Amino acid sequence: VEDDLTHLPNIDPSKLEVTKSITPKQLVPNQDLVFGRNFTDHMLSIEWTASQGWLTPRITPYQNLSLDPATCVFHYAFEAFEGMKAYRCPHDASLRLFRPNKNMQRLNKSVARIALPTFDGDALIELISEFCKLDQRFIPNEKGYSLYLRPTMIGTQRTLGVGPPGSALLFVIASPVGPYYPTGFKAISLEATDYAVRAWPGGVGDKKLGANYAPCIVPQLKAAKRGFHQNLWLFGEEEFITEVGTMNLFVCVKDKQTGQKELVTAPLDGTILEGVTRDSVLALARERLEPQGWKVSERYLRMKDLAEAEQEGRLLEVFGAGTAAIVSPIRKISWKDQMIGCGLKETEEAGEIALKMKNWIEAIQYGDEAHDWSWKI
Ligand code: PMP
Repeated sequence: VEDDLTHLPNIDPSKLEVTKSITPKQLVPNQDLVFGRNFTDHMLSIEWTASQGWLTPRITPYQNLSLDPATCVFHYAFEAFEGMKAYRCPHDASLRLFRPNKNMQRLNKSVARIALPTFDGDALIELISEFCKLDQRFIPNEKGYSLYLRPTMIGTQRTLGVGPPGSALLFVIASPVGPYYPTGFKAISLEATDYAVRAWPGGVGDKKLGANYAPCIVPQLKAAKRGFHQNLWLFGEEEFITEVGTMNLFVCVKDKQTGQKELVTAPLDGTILEGVTRDSVLALARERLEPQGWKVSERYLRMKDLAEAEQEGRLLEVFGAGTAAIVSPIRKISWKDQMIGCGLKETEEAGEIALKMKNWIEAIQYGDEAHDWSWKI
């Protein structure tokens, strides 16, 4: 049922209209930054209609949206979003985006699944770059700090009829953020959730839809109530390990027979969010760990396999990977009546591979290492 809308105008960065804020906000001191609480002076918005395509891109002062209560986003969750960051290089103060093309691809896949319009990703990167430059005073010139960018698309048609939205709004807001672990890594504990699933075959777990996130909060709260930082999402009778909270999961194990070291993460079978950090960890592991004798695998791993590896002393380390923290080391996982230790000594907060990955990825994000993943804007 794909309508051919390609004849309609795509996003055109040359048409950008900028209205600057006349009430610049006061900067929040670095140490007081809380993730997603403070926003910059401006926002980027582009409207779309089924008859006119993408309209004039606008940067305006950050402001409320005004939407009719019958707008379809409120009723049927026509919403998809992205999470990405702009970094400032401490050496030359240049601004950089990390693999923004990946976020554009993912957003296009997400919106297409919920009958929202796709768009030219390069054009949106150009506009996001302009927006970042305009609000760059919000990015502290210090390693660990960045500007979290939240591209979002919503269906804006005013109707309770269930159908494809005839109009949409793509907007981008930006929030200055500090280092996820201001005092160094802190290993977290997980509770394996065995009574709910995040995603399922044929579902939309591989899309970044708002509708995927609200149902995750109650299991997260239940895990927190029992003293765990996050919940670990399993799938199926085999209890395959899928993702942790809003991160992809990586496990370092030794092979039972050969002792071969292996970095494992779940395969992209439609139930796993295609993390940009996940992809980066895999690529760096193939480039830098494989030559040192590591095996890198995208394969299923059951809770049972993890528990067995721990019992046999073959579980080396476990970590989550995502844009917010880059990597998040895991100390232990509660599963049924067992507590699985994830290879860290009591005095350790991170394993060797998690630490290497953080350093490698951060060096690229901040421009310490020249790499085509880092886009100077
Ligand atoms: N899984 C889920 C469910 C997520 O929400 C995220 C955050 N986008 C990730 C994994 C990590 O993805 P990324 O590395 O692109 O941030």
